[in-house]
Amino acid sequence: PRTVARIAAGEVVERPASAVKELLENSLDAGARRIDIEIKGGGAALIRVADDGCGIPSDELSLAFTRHATSKIVSFDDLSTLETLGFRGEALASIAAVADIEVTSAVSGAFAGSRLTLGAGHHEKIVPAARACGTTISVTHLFKEVPARLKFLKSDATETGHIVNTVANYAMAYPGIKFRLSVDGREILSTPGSGRLRDVAAEVLGGDIAARMIEAAAAEGLFTVGGLVSPPDASRANRSGMYFFVNRRWIRNSMLSRAVEEAYRGLLTVGRYPVAVVNLVLPPSDIDINIHPAKTEIKFREDGKVFDFVRRAARDALLCGSP
Ligand code: ADP
Ligand code: MG
Repeated sequence: PRTVARIAAGEVVERPASAVKELLENSLDAGARRIDIEIKGGGAALIRVADDGCGIPSDELSLAFTRHATSKIVSFDDLSTLETLGFRGEALASIAAVADIEVTSAVSGAFAGSRLTLGAGHHEKIVPAARACGTTISVTHLFKEVPARLKFLKSDATETGHIVNTVANYAMAYPGIKFRLSVDGREILSTPGSGRLRDVAAEVLGGDIAARMIEAAAAEGLFTVGGLVSPPDASRANRSGMYFFVNRRWIRNSMLSRAVEEAYRGLLTVGRYPVAVVNLVLPPSDIDINIHPAKTEIKFREDGKVFDFVRRAARDALLCGSP
């Protein structure tokens, strides 16, 4: 069963950044207002995520690591009205199958919190522990016993890069939440949780460009778009400065990239690309998304309509807006 668990785990935890993603989503689902992330050795040595969310009651701590144990879904019908990021109850079990884990958690009003350690090599153990309301999960020795996975990990710098991008994406999608990321003891990202996208953009893209970015906003029926677009002279030589979020999920979508690029038509020279953070909100029924937690691809029911909507919002901002 350990082997089967490890193979299944590989689907959810492909690399350290996927573990970070799952832990962040759990913190967000728990209603956290502040999330501290600490990593060492590209995440393979240590990933620690601490939040001030609702916590996990002592008697449910062990259950949280059981496959298909989730507190987030009551019946299959709930899938259509899902408002949490997680729902399959697989993430923690998958991480525990390929790493050592220590989780300390406390719920508000409880007399004390508790700490659970589990993972390869040691017995599951729960002890009382002091902690303010919230949860801290430490993941160590990731993939230690999965040589096949370990072998495919890239350098620490590359894995760290993936983690930084993951945290930056969630920070931009949730400007109202304070995110802090430290890498090998050095703080490299810290957002104020002000609710203003520009404040997060300053951290992720740099203060100078963030100050000059132009606000874009439009609404049409049930579609809304909001975000920040760079002035044409702050372009880049590649598409790395374009970020897209649909219903608060970071996604990759070439049609959306083209829509923004089209908005800059005549304003940028060939080979230059805009910097933009675009948040699109639309009814789930307009999205054709394969509900897989690792999915970053998305299809729109009405591609052309979304294209025009985003292009126009960005174009209007460029022509009429000011920072
Ligand atoms: P899912 O998110 O799909 O429910 P997970 O395996 O990611 O499954 O988590 C299992 C359960 O553990 C969650 O449903 C939740 O009840 C609990 N949990 C995990 N992380 C946290 C956290 N940071 N704060 C509060 N509860 C958590
Ligand atoms: Mg989850």
